[in-house]
Amino acid sequence: MGRVVVAGSINMDVVATAERHPRVGETVAGQSVMYFPGGKGANQAVAAAKLGVPTTLIGRLGRDAFGEQLRAFLAAHGIDLTAVKDSTGASTGTAIITLAKADNTIVVIAGANAEVGADDVAQVVLTPGDVAVSQFEIPQPTISAFFQRAKAAGATTILNPAPASAFDSALFALVDILVLNETELGFLAGIELGDAPTPQQVTDAVRELKPRPDQTVCVTLGARGAVAVTNGDAKLIEGRAVKAVDTTGAGDCFVGALAARLSQGAAMADAIGYANAAASISVQRMGAGPSMPSAEEVRAWL
Ligand code: AMP
Repeated sequence: MGRVVVAGSINMDVVATAERHPRVGETVAGQSVMYFPGGKGANQAVAAAKLGVPTTLIGRLGRDAFGEQLRAFLAAHGIDLTAVKDSTGASTGTAIITLAKADNTIVVIAGANAEVGADDVAQVVLTPGDVAVSQFEIPQPTISAFFQRAKAAGATTILNPAPASAFDSALFALVDILVLNETELGFLAGIELGDAPTPQQVTDAVRELKPRPDQTVCVTLGARGAVAVTNGDAKLIEGRAVKAVDTTGAGDCFVGALAARLSQGAAMADAIGYANAAASISVQRMGAGPSMPSAEEVRAWL
């Protein structure tokens, strides 16, 4: 049995709520401020760890109060943090979110996340059963270095190209499984996919990415589930009918659960069904980290 090793971002999300957004130069009185551990890397590591799989996170925190809080939060989930280093100068990654009615504005400061480098990924020794996971909130050259090590060790690599950003074919060549949503697929394929593309439209767009026959591209479709394309063969994994209350972190839950299941030796189709089930549990609860299900919950739901 392998481990999940995530190289990625760790953020504190600071959410201020107000009746309305301030205009430029204006101050408005808010109602509340809330602090949520976030960052795609941390969320995906929490998802895998809560499913009971040994999980290692590679990342960076600032030497500040958020850094201390996040380190304690991640440690409480049993995540191996030996490769989470403190930055000497940068602040902990922070997202400042203003929420007024249903509209939000977000300012993200990468801070220490921008410093995660090849030296950081070189600290972790990977073995053949391991699953290496990354996203686009740390520098792409670091992800390439990480996946090169993973492939040399015989580990499986999962890239979640989020937030959407162009990446070169040399990085894509190191990816075994690409997991992305409709927006990211539209961006990377250079196609306007609209709100609810059909599985056929999704499959056609995946073809534009020119995956190798041995690569799997898994496109998450929100409530409609996911489409997985391997060697030109597309499979629709139907979404679970649930009452969604907060879809924040659903994609991260999907990626973390997929990695967790694959690290335990599951076949691809089984692991995608498992990830779909786990993510459909997470949307029924508030928040990202706290909404991630346990292995018992997913087992009961399958
Ligand atoms: P998304 O990032 O929105 O594509 O969602 C990722 C995954 O979360 C989907 O593939 C589903 O497994 C699950 N999911 C998201 N939204 C819902 C929903 N409203 N109902 C059920 N499952 C959902």
